[in-house]
Order: sequence, then structure tokens, then C-alpha cells
Amino acid sequence: MGLYTRAVALDRSTIWPYRDGEPGEFYYQRYGHPTGAEAQRVLGVLDGGTALLFPSGAGATTALVLALLAPGDTIALAEGAYFGTGGTFHELERWGLHVVEFDQTGAPPDGVQLVWLEAPSNPFLTMPDLEAAVAHPARVVVDATAATPVYLRPLEHGADFVLHSATKYLGGHDDALLGAVVCRDPAAAEVLRIFRTRTGIVAAADAAWLLLRGLKTLEMRVHRQTDTAGAIAARLADHSKVLTVRYPGIGGLISFDVADNDTARRVETSTELVVNATSLGGVTSVMESRHRWEGDRVPPGLLRLSVGLEDAGALWDDLARALDQA
Ligand code: PLP
Repeated sequence: MGLYTRAVALDRSTIWPYRDGEPGEFYYQRYGHPTGAEAQRVLGVLDGGTALLFPSGAGATTALVLALLAPGDTIALAEGAYFGTGGTFHELERWGLHVVEFDQTGAPPDGVQLVWLEAPSNPFLTMPDLEAAVAHPARVVVDATAATPVYLRPLEHGADFVLHSATKYLGGHDDALLGAVVCRDPAAAEVLRIFRTRTGIVAAADAAWLLLRGLKTLEMRVHRQTDTAGAIAARLADHSKVLTVRYPGIGGLISFDVADNDTARRVETSTELVVNATSLGGVTSVMESRHRWEGDRVPPGLLRLSVGLEDAGALWDDLARALDQA
């Protein structure tokens, strides 16, 4: 792809000297820094738009909503999307924001100012009807954290913004908390960039450097995770203790149901290779019962598995052993 023209040195400076009394491209870190600028350039190429980094996916969500919407506006949020996104919006309700949920496999409701999709949704793993969404007059955001630009470039389908928790597949190693928004319209990106500077919702250089390192192997990682996840999803579907398997055919994220919360608890605590932890998208496979976080919003026996880069056979042996014992 010719994307990675140079290895960027990590520059933690918060100031850069003026030249002949004039500020250069970088002068104060809140306005921009070289490591972040390079990470934004690469991500912009990957998603086909203008990328902006934020200190977390939730921070990117907050900035996007506050910069774009006004009190009294309504967001149509995909039902079953990441529960934290609903939490962020809920936090903003006291500033006059309204939220309605809808089934993203169909058309968004009328009378909303922003449509928020998730591809695929976490943890229900539905894919949005992008065509129906972009036909709606409201602007459309696609949280493509789990699909990554390797499998979906929403701007090419007419979406206005892509949101990423870069903490997940883009960073890929569970060691950097980071978010990004990629904008189709450079003018909208400029509005968001100014908002970011003024509100200080700014990503640190260290995290941006780790993102750059992670992006270099993104494609390889997610292809391998997809191969493994496809094989594991098929085997889970044949297992007598598994009631339902959700896998959209792309990426490394699977969710499946066992009988109840106690069974899920026994499965998640009996694996040896798969780590019992939250989050997703890293090189290490992690699994957890989502009921502890999401309550009745998810079936009590729902387990979310993020497939890493371990050997597929060894992963299945580990999971099968945990399921057999449960
Ligand atoms: N979007 C999705 C789909 C997520 O899974 C997450 C986190 O789990 C987020 C956004 C929020 O990202 P972050 O944890 O980086 O703030």
C-alpha cells in the first residue's frame, strides 16, 4: 500500500520553538503533534477521509456529538450497540440531547438529526443497513471498531463519519487507549479539530505512536483473526452446551450463549489460554460474560469472545475443555 513511508520518532514535546518569531506546523501539543499527525494521516488513508485522534473511543464519541449537535437534537442509536455509547449519550441528556433506539438492520426513524450505527454491533454482532441509513436526511456515523477499515470503509458507502475505538483492533495489543473519528467532509473535520483543541480532548503522543506501530500489522492480524474466528464459531455451533452463536463472518469477535449466568461464569473462569478479561481486538484472546456489565440487556448466558492470534486448534481445545466442564 506504500502507507508507511517512514518510522516516526516518538516526540513527547508539548512545545516547538517558533522560527523567526512565527509558529511552524507544530507549536503547542493541544493543537497537534507530529506523532498524532502521522497516525491521523495513515488512518485517513485507510478509511478514505480526514482522521482525527482522541484519547479514547468514548472521548471521540463525546467530541463528535458535542461538536455536531445542538440541545434538542435527537440521535437514532442502533439497538444493541456498545452499551458504553448509550452511556455516553445518557450522560449528555442533561445538556438537551435525546436518544431513540432503532433496529439498524432496517431504516432509521424520521425526525432525528444523527444516525449512529455499529458495524458489527457489540455484542449482538448485527450489521447495519447502510444503504437505508444514508438515504435518511440526517448525518450518519458508523462505529466500525469491530469491522476495521480492512472489512468496511463506511465513507465509501455514503456515511459521513467513521468512529473507532482504536484501543481495539487498530492498536491491537491492549496497550493503548485511543479513539478516532474519520470524516468524509474536510470542513466537518476542521470543525471537529477546532472543537478538540478548545475542549482539550486530545490524544497523547505515546498512544499515537503505539497506534502507528499497530496499524502496520492490522491487515495481517484481522485476516488471521477472521480465519480463526470462523473456525471457532462453526465448532461452537456444534457444541451441545452452546445455545446460540453470533458471528458476522468478518473480524475476530464472536458472541455465544450458554444456558445461564452461572454456566457462563464457569466457562469464562475455566479457560487457560483464553484470558478472562474485558475489551477486544488484541493479539491475546479474551472472553467474558457480558451480563456483569450489561445486565438484562443481554441474555444471561451470553459470552463475548475476542479471538486473538493464538493457534486455532489450541484455542478450540481450551474452549471445548471449559464448555465440557461447565
Ligand atoms: N465502540 C465500541 C464498538 C467499543 O467496543 C468500545 C469499547 O469497548 C468503544 C466504542 C469505546 O471505546 P474506548 O473504550 O476506547 O473508549
